[in-house]
Amino acid sequence: MKWIDKAFEKSWVVPLGPNVDEFEGLLGEYVGNPNVVALSAGTAALHLGLVMLGVEQGDEVICQSFTFSASANPVKYQGANPIFVDSDKDTWNMDPVALEEAIVERQRIIGKYPKAIIPVHLYGMPSKMDKIMAIAHKYNIPVLEDAAEALGSNFKGQKCGTIGTYGALSFNGNKVITTSGGGALICPTPETAKRVKFLATQAREAKPYYYHNVIGYNYRLSNISAGIGCGQMEVLQEHVDRRRAIHHLYTELFKDVDEISVKQNPGADYDSNFWLSAIEFSHKLGITSEDARKALEEANIESRWLWRPMHMQPVYENAPYYGGNVCENTFNHGLCLPSGSILTDDDIKRVVNTLKEFVAKHK
Ligand SMILES: *Cc1c(COP(=O)(O)O)cnc(C)c1O
Repeated sequence: MKWIDKAFEKSWVVPLGPNVDEFEGLLGEYVGNPNVVALSAGTAALHLGLVMLGVEQGDEVICQSFTFSASANPVKYQGANPIFVDSDKDTWNMDPVALEEAIVERQRIIGKYPKAIIPVHLYGMPSKMDKIMAIAHKYNIPVLEDAAEALGSNFKGQKCGTIGTYGALSFNGNKVITTSGGGALICPTPETAKRVKFLATQAREAKPYYYHNVIGYNYRLSNISAGIGCGQMEVLQEHVDRRRAIHHLYTELFKDVDEISVKQNPGADYDSNFWLSAIEFSHKLGITSEDARKALEEANIESRWLWRPMHMQPVYENAPYYGGNVCENTFNHGLCLPSGSILTDDDIKRVVNTLKEFVAKHK
Protein backbone atom coordinates (compact mmCIF):
# COMPACT_ATOMS: atom_id res chain seq x y z
CA MET A 1 0.00 0.00 0.00
CA LYS A 2 2.94 2.31 0.73
CA TRP A 3 4.11 2.06 -2.88
CA ILE A 4 0.63 2.37 -4.35
CA ASP A 5 -0.22 5.42 -2.21
CA LYS A 6 2.96 7.09 -3.43
CA ALA A 7 1.95 6.43 -7.04
CA PHE A 8 -1.45 8.06 -6.53
CA GLU A 9 -0.01 10.99 -4.56
CA LYS A 10 2.34 11.81 -7.41
CA SER A 11 -0.23 10.88 -10.12
CA TRP A 12 2.07 8.19 -11.49
CA VAL A 13 -0.94 6.15 -12.62
CA VAL A 14 0.57 5.08 -15.94
CA PRO A 15 2.50 2.17 -17.43
CA LEU A 16 5.88 3.54 -16.31
CA GLY A 17 7.21 5.48 -13.34
CA PRO A 18 9.31 5.24 -10.17
CA ASN A 19 7.73 2.00 -8.91
CA VAL A 20 8.55 0.32 -12.23
CA ASP A 21 12.18 1.45 -11.99
CA GLU A 22 12.34 0.40 -8.35
CA PHE A 23 10.79 -3.01 -9.03
CA GLU A 24 13.22 -3.64 -11.88
CA GLY A 25 16.12 -2.70 -9.61
CA LEU A 26 14.96 -5.06 -6.87
CA LEU A 27 14.42 -7.89 -9.35
CA GLY A 28 17.83 -7.28 -10.92
CA GLU A 29 19.49 -7.45 -7.52
CA TYR A 30 17.62 -10.62 -6.65
CA VAL A 31 18.45 -12.54 -9.81
CA GLY A 32 21.95 -11.11 -10.12
CA ASN A 33 21.44 -9.46 -13.52
CA PRO A 34 20.55 -5.75 -13.63
CA ASN A 35 19.09 -5.89 -17.16
CA VAL A 36 15.51 -6.67 -16.16
CA VAL A 37 12.51 -5.10 -17.90
CA ALA A 38 9.12 -5.19 -16.14
CA LEU A 39 6.26 -6.04 -18.50
CA SER A 40 2.50 -6.52 -18.42
CA ALA A 41 2.68 -10.34 -18.37
CA GLY A 42 4.98 -13.30 -18.56
CA THR A 43 3.45 -14.01 -21.95
CA ALA A 44 4.51 -10.53 -23.12
CA ALA A 45 8.03 -11.24 -21.84
CA LEU A 46 8.21 -14.47 -23.84
CA HIS A 47 6.85 -12.68 -26.91
CA LEU A 48 9.40 -9.86 -26.72
CA GLY A 49 12.14 -12.42 -26.08
CA LEU A 50 11.28 -14.03 -29.40
CA VAL A 51 11.11 -10.64 -31.14
CA MET A 52 14.57 -9.79 -29.77
CA LEU A 53 15.90 -13.11 -31.04
CA GLY A 54 14.66 -12.25 -34.51
CA VAL A 55 12.04 -14.99 -34.74
CA GLU A 56 9.93 -14.33 -37.81
CA GLN A 57 7.31 -15.81 -40.08
CA GLY A 58 8.27 -19.28 -41.24
CA ASP A 59 10.90 -19.82 -38.55
CA GLU A 60 10.78 -22.76 -36.20
CA VAL A 61 11.21 -22.58 -32.44
CA ILE A 62 11.78 -25.57 -30.21
CA CYS A 63 9.58 -25.60 -27.14
CA GLN A 64 9.09 -27.99 -24.26
CA SER A 65 5.77 -29.79 -24.80
CA PHE A 66 5.04 -30.30 -21.10
CA THR A 67 4.04 -26.74 -20.20
CA PHE A 68 1.34 -24.10 -20.08
CA SER A 69 0.20 -22.83 -23.49
CA ALA A 70 1.75 -19.38 -22.83
CA SER A 71 5.22 -20.88 -23.41
CA ALA A 72 4.31 -21.74 -27.01
CA ASN A 73 1.66 -19.24 -28.11
CA PRO A 74 4.10 -16.33 -28.59
CA VAL A 75 5.87 -18.43 -31.25
CA LYS A 76 2.60 -18.30 -33.18
CA TYR A 77 2.22 -14.55 -32.53
CA GLN A 78 5.41 -14.20 -34.57
CA GLY A 79 4.03 -16.33 -37.39
CA ALA A 80 6.63 -18.96 -36.54
CA ASN A 81 6.03 -22.64 -35.80
CA PRO A 82 6.65 -24.44 -32.51
CA ILE A 83 8.43 -27.78 -32.57
CA PHE A 84 7.62 -29.66 -29.39
CA VAL A 85 9.97 -31.95 -27.50
CA ASP A 86 9.46 -34.44 -24.70
CA SER A 87 10.64 -34.17 -21.11
CA ASP A 88 13.10 -36.29 -19.19
CA LYS A 89 12.01 -38.25 -16.13
CA ASP A 90 14.44 -36.49 -13.75
CA THR A 91 13.19 -32.93 -14.13
CA TRP A 92 9.93 -33.30 -16.15
CA ASN A 93 11.53 -30.60 -18.32
CA MET A 94 13.07 -30.49 -21.80
CA ASP A 95 14.90 -33.73 -22.53
CA PRO A 96 18.32 -32.77 -23.96
CA VAL A 97 18.40 -35.95 -26.06
CA ALA A 98 15.04 -35.17 -27.69
CA LEU A 99 16.17 -31.56 -28.11
CA GLU A 100 19.23 -32.50 -30.14
CA GLU A 101 17.25 -35.01 -32.17
CA ALA A 102 14.72 -32.29 -33.00
CA ILE A 103 17.43 -29.79 -34.00
CA VAL A 104 19.13 -32.25 -36.34
CA GLU A 105 15.86 -33.49 -37.84
CA ARG A 106 14.44 -30.02 -38.47
CA GLN A 107 17.64 -28.96 -40.19
CA ARG A 108 17.42 -32.07 -42.36
CA ILE A 109 13.73 -31.54 -43.19
CA ILE A 110 13.43 -27.78 -43.75
CA GLY A 111 17.08 -26.94 -44.43
CA LYS A 112 17.53 -24.51 -41.54
CA TYR A 113 18.04 -24.70 -37.83
CA PRO A 114 15.37 -23.68 -35.33
CA LYS A 115 15.69 -20.01 -34.38
CA ALA A 116 15.36 -20.42 -30.61
CA ILE A 117 14.93 -22.97 -27.83
CA ILE A 118 12.39 -22.51 -25.02
CA PRO A 119 13.02 -24.74 -22.00
CA VAL A 120 10.56 -24.35 -19.11
CA HIS A 121 11.31 -24.74 -15.41
CA LEU A 122 8.05 -26.49 -14.62
CA TYR A 123 6.65 -26.09 -11.10
CA GLY A 124 9.93 -24.34 -10.28
CA MET A 125 12.14 -27.32 -11.13
CA PRO A 126 15.23 -26.21 -13.06
CA SER A 127 15.70 -27.80 -16.48
CA LYS A 128 18.99 -29.54 -17.30
CA MET A 129 20.45 -26.19 -18.27
CA ASP A 130 24.07 -27.34 -18.58
CA LYS A 131 23.17 -29.93 -21.21
CA ILE A 132 20.64 -27.68 -22.94
CA MET A 133 23.11 -24.77 -23.13
CA ALA A 134 25.84 -27.08 -24.46
CA ILE A 135 23.56 -28.24 -27.28
CA ALA A 136 22.42 -24.66 -27.93
CA HIS A 137 26.07 -23.55 -28.26
CA LYS A 138 26.93 -26.50 -30.47
CA TYR A 139 24.27 -25.46 -33.02
CA ASN A 140 24.50 -21.74 -32.24
CA ILE A 141 20.83 -21.40 -31.26
CA PRO A 142 19.82 -18.93 -28.53
CA VAL A 143 17.87 -20.05 -25.46
CA LEU A 144 14.84 -18.25 -24.07
CA GLU A 145 14.14 -19.61 -20.59
CA ASP A 146 10.54 -19.74 -19.47
CA ALA A 147 11.15 -19.12 -15.77
CA ALA A 148 7.56 -17.99 -15.15
CA GLU A 149 7.17 -20.54 -12.36
CA ALA A 150 10.75 -20.51 -11.17
CA LEU A 151 11.51 -17.17 -9.50
CA GLY A 152 13.87 -18.15 -6.68
CA SER A 153 14.95 -21.47 -8.22
CA ASN A 154 18.65 -22.12 -8.88
CA PHE A 155 20.58 -24.39 -11.18
CA LYS A 156 24.19 -24.94 -10.07
CA GLY A 157 23.81 -21.88 -7.86
CA GLN A 158 22.62 -19.63 -10.68
CA LYS A 159 19.12 -18.13 -10.71
CA CYS A 160 16.73 -19.64 -13.24
CA GLY A 161 16.00 -17.07 -15.94
CA THR A 162 19.60 -15.80 -16.04
CA ILE A 163 21.22 -18.81 -17.73
CA GLY A 164 19.86 -18.56 -21.27
CA THR A 165 20.21 -15.54 -23.56
CA TYR A 166 16.86 -14.24 -22.29
CA GLY A 167 14.66 -15.32 -19.39
CA ALA A 168 10.96 -14.66 -18.78
CA LEU A 169 9.35 -14.25 -15.35
CA SER A 170 5.66 -14.04 -14.46
CA PHE A 171 3.92 -12.24 -11.60
CA ASN A 172 0.44 -13.52 -12.32
CA GLY A 173 -1.84 -14.04 -9.34
CA ASN A 174 -0.95 -17.73 -9.04
CA LYS A 175 2.83 -17.38 -9.12
CA VAL A 176 5.37 -17.17 -6.28
CA ILE A 177 4.89 -13.41 -6.13
CA THR A 178 2.17 -11.40 -7.82
CA THR A 179 1.67 -7.92 -9.21
CA SER A 180 -1.96 -8.96 -9.90
CA GLY A 181 -0.72 -9.45 -13.46
CA GLY A 182 2.74 -8.84 -14.78
CA GLY A 183 6.01 -10.26 -15.98
CA ALA A 184 9.60 -9.41 -16.71
CA LEU A 185 12.22 -10.14 -19.31
CA ILE A 186 15.78 -10.71 -18.14
CA CYS A 187 18.07 -9.45 -20.91
CA PRO A 188 21.75 -10.10 -21.69
CA THR A 189 22.93 -6.46 -21.85
CA PRO A 190 21.87 -2.88 -21.00
CA GLU A 191 21.44 -2.25 -24.75
CA THR A 192 19.05 -5.17 -25.26
CA ALA A 193 17.08 -4.15 -22.15
CA LYS A 194 16.78 -0.65 -23.57
CA ARG A 195 15.54 -2.06 -26.86
CA VAL A 196 12.94 -4.21 -25.05
CA LYS A 197 11.65 -1.12 -23.20
CA PHE A 198 11.42 0.69 -26.54
CA LEU A 199 9.48 -2.16 -28.19
CA ALA A 200 7.21 -2.47 -25.14
CA THR A 201 6.17 1.18 -25.39
CA GLN A 202 4.92 1.12 -28.99
CA ALA A 203 8.39 1.47 -30.55
CA ARG A 204 8.08 5.22 -30.61
CA GLU A 205 11.21 6.83 -32.03
CA ALA A 206 12.79 9.87 -30.34
CA LYS A 207 11.11 12.58 -32.39
CA PRO A 208 8.66 15.35 -31.44
CA TYR A 209 5.92 13.61 -33.46
CA TYR A 210 4.91 9.96 -33.41
CA TYR A 211 7.30 8.15 -35.69
CA HIS A 212 7.75 4.39 -36.06
CA ASN A 213 10.38 2.34 -37.85
CA VAL A 214 9.26 -0.99 -36.45
CA ILE A 215 6.18 -2.66 -34.99
CA GLY A 216 5.74 -1.91 -31.30
CA TYR A 217 3.72 -3.31 -28.42
CA ASN A 218 1.91 -1.97 -25.38
CA TYR A 219 3.59 -4.32 -22.94
CA ARG A 220 4.97 -2.19 -20.09
CA LEU A 221 3.96 -2.83 -16.48
CA SER A 222 1.73 -0.26 -14.81
CA ASN A 223 3.28 1.82 -12.04
CA ILE A 224 0.48 0.66 -9.70
CA SER A 225 1.15 -3.04 -10.40
CA ALA A 226 4.88 -2.40 -10.01
CA GLY A 227 4.11 -0.94 -6.58
CA ILE A 228 2.56 -4.27 -5.60
CA GLY A 229 5.69 -5.91 -6.98
CA CYS A 230 7.98 -3.75 -4.82
CA GLY A 231 6.00 -4.82 -1.75
CA GLN A 232 6.08 -8.45 -2.85
CA MET A 233 9.87 -8.37 -3.14
CA GLU A 234 9.96 -7.88 0.64
CA VAL A 235 8.21 -11.25 1.14
CA LEU A 236 9.60 -13.16 -1.86
CA GLN A 237 12.17 -15.13 0.12
CA GLU A 238 9.56 -15.89 2.80
CA HIS A 239 7.22 -17.26 0.12
CA VAL A 240 9.94 -19.40 -1.43
CA ASP A 241 11.00 -20.71 1.99
CA ARG A 242 7.40 -21.60 2.83
CA ARG A 243 6.88 -23.40 -0.50
CA ARG A 244 10.01 -25.42 0.15
CA ALA A 245 8.86 -26.20 3.70
CA ILE A 246 5.49 -27.38 2.36
CA HIS A 247 7.26 -29.59 -0.15
CA HIS A 248 9.46 -30.97 2.62
CA LEU A 249 6.41 -31.76 4.75
CA TYR A 250 4.66 -33.56 1.86
CA THR A 251 7.86 -35.55 1.30
CA GLU A 252 8.07 -36.58 4.97
CA LEU A 253 4.39 -37.46 5.27
CA PHE A 254 4.32 -39.56 2.07
CA LYS A 255 7.57 -41.37 2.92
CA ASP A 256 5.78 -44.58 3.92
CA VAL A 257 3.45 -44.56 0.89
CA ASP A 258 5.16 -46.50 -1.91
CA GLU A 259 2.43 -45.68 -4.42
CA ILE A 260 2.98 -41.93 -4.24
CA SER A 261 6.25 -40.19 -5.06
CA VAL A 262 6.67 -36.49 -4.40
CA LYS A 263 8.68 -34.83 -7.19
CA GLN A 264 12.18 -34.12 -5.87
CA ASN A 265 15.25 -32.17 -6.95
CA PRO A 266 17.05 -34.85 -8.98
CA GLY A 267 20.49 -33.91 -7.63
CA ALA A 268 22.62 -31.33 -5.86
CA ASP A 269 22.67 -29.07 -8.96
CA TYR A 270 18.93 -28.52 -8.69
CA ASP A 271 17.30 -26.15 -6.23
CA SER A 272 13.60 -25.78 -7.02
CA ASN A 273 11.48 -23.08 -5.42
CA PHE A 274 8.77 -25.79 -5.34
CA TRP A 275 6.19 -23.32 -6.58
CA LEU A 276 3.86 -26.30 -6.66
CA SER A 277 4.41 -29.63 -4.95
CA ALA A 278 3.58 -32.32 -7.49
CA ILE A 279 3.19 -36.05 -7.01
CA GLU A 280 3.16 -39.08 -9.25
CA PHE A 281 1.11 -42.20 -8.60
CA SER A 282 2.65 -45.59 -9.16
CA HIS A 283 1.64 -46.75 -12.65
CA LYS A 284 0.83 -50.15 -11.12
CA LEU A 285 -1.98 -48.61 -9.13
CA GLY A 286 -4.28 -48.42 -12.16
CA ILE A 287 -5.81 -45.10 -11.15
CA THR A 288 -5.86 -41.86 -13.03
CA SER A 289 -5.07 -38.32 -11.98
CA GLU A 290 -8.77 -37.61 -12.30
CA ASP A 291 -9.70 -40.30 -9.72
CA ALA A 292 -7.33 -38.70 -7.24
CA ARG A 293 -8.46 -35.18 -8.04
CA LYS A 294 -12.09 -36.19 -7.47
CA ALA A 295 -11.28 -37.90 -4.17
CA LEU A 296 -9.63 -34.72 -2.96
CA GLU A 297 -12.49 -32.60 -4.23
CA GLU A 298 -14.95 -34.68 -2.20
CA ALA A 299 -12.95 -33.65 0.85
CA ASN A 300 -13.20 -30.02 -0.29
CA ILE A 301 -9.52 -29.94 -1.31
CA GLU A 302 -8.59 -28.38 -4.63
CA SER A 303 -5.87 -30.08 -6.66
CA ARG A 304 -4.92 -29.75 -10.30
CA TRP A 305 -3.86 -31.98 -13.14
CA LEU A 306 -0.31 -31.40 -14.36
CA TRP A 307 -0.05 -29.28 -17.51
CA ARG A 308 -1.49 -31.16 -20.46
CA PRO A 309 1.38 -31.40 -23.00
CA MET A 310 1.18 -29.07 -25.99
CA HIS A 311 1.46 -31.88 -28.54
CA MET A 312 -1.77 -33.26 -27.03
CA GLN A 313 -3.65 -29.98 -27.53
CA PRO A 314 -6.08 -29.65 -30.47
CA VAL A 315 -4.66 -26.21 -31.28
CA TYR A 316 -1.18 -27.75 -31.80
CA GLU A 317 -2.16 -31.11 -33.25
CA ASN A 318 -0.23 -30.46 -36.47
CA ALA A 319 2.97 -29.31 -34.77
CA PRO A 320 5.92 -31.71 -35.01
CA TYR A 321 6.87 -33.54 -31.82
CA TYR A 322 10.14 -35.25 -30.89
CA GLY A 323 10.75 -37.70 -28.08
CA GLY A 324 8.84 -40.49 -26.41
CA ASN A 325 5.94 -40.60 -24.01
CA VAL A 326 7.53 -39.33 -20.79
CA CYS A 327 5.47 -36.17 -20.51
CA GLU A 328 2.28 -37.94 -21.59
CA ASN A 329 2.78 -40.66 -18.95
CA THR A 330 3.63 -38.13 -16.28
CA PHE A 331 0.57 -36.11 -17.20
CA ASN A 332 -1.63 -39.20 -16.82
CA HIS A 333 -0.26 -40.18 -13.43
CA GLY A 334 0.57 -36.88 -11.77
CA LEU A 335 -1.18 -34.28 -9.68
CA CYS A 336 -0.38 -30.82 -8.32
CA LEU A 337 -1.18 -30.58 -4.62
CA PRO A 338 -2.23 -27.48 -2.69
CA SER A 339 1.01 -25.54 -2.27
CA GLY A 340 0.11 -21.91 -1.48
CA SER A 341 2.35 -20.08 0.95
CA ILE A 342 -0.58 -19.46 3.34
CA LEU A 343 -1.34 -23.16 3.91
CA THR A 344 -0.74 -24.41 7.45
CA ASP A 345 0.98 -27.66 8.36
CA ASP A 346 -2.42 -29.00 9.44
CA ASP A 347 -3.81 -28.21 5.98
CA ILE A 348 -0.99 -30.24 4.42
CA LYS A 349 -1.61 -33.14 6.82
CA ARG A 350 -5.28 -33.18 5.85
CA VAL A 351 -4.37 -33.37 2.14
CA VAL A 352 -1.96 -36.22 2.83
CA ASN A 353 -4.41 -38.19 4.97
CA THR A 354 -7.12 -37.87 2.33
CA LEU A 355 -4.76 -39.19 -0.34
CA LYS A 356 -3.53 -42.00 1.90
CA GLU A 357 -7.12 -43.17 2.41
CA PHE A 358 -7.71 -42.91 -1.33
CA VAL A 359 -4.66 -45.00 -2.17
CA ALA A 360 -5.48 -47.60 0.51
CA LYS A 361 -8.89 -48.11 -1.15
CA HIS A 362 -7.26 -48.74 -4.54
CA LYS A 363 -4.55 -51.17 -3.46
C1 LIG B 1 2.18 -18.35 -15.92
C2 LIG B 1 3.03 -18.90 -17.00
C3 LIG B 1 3.31 -18.16 -18.16
C4 LIG B 1 2.64 -16.88 -18.51
O1 LIG B 1 2.74 -15.86 -17.61
P1 LIG B 1 1.57 -14.76 -17.54
O2 LIG B 1 2.15 -13.74 -16.62
O3 LIG B 1 0.37 -15.44 -16.98
O4 LIG B 1 1.36 -14.24 -18.91
C5 LIG B 1 4.18 -18.70 -19.08
N1 LIG B 1 4.74 -19.91 -18.90
C6 LIG B 1 4.47 -20.64 -17.82
C7 LIG B 1 5.15 -21.97 -17.67
C8 LIG B 1 3.60 -20.19 -16.83
O5 LIG B 1 3.32 -20.95 -15.78
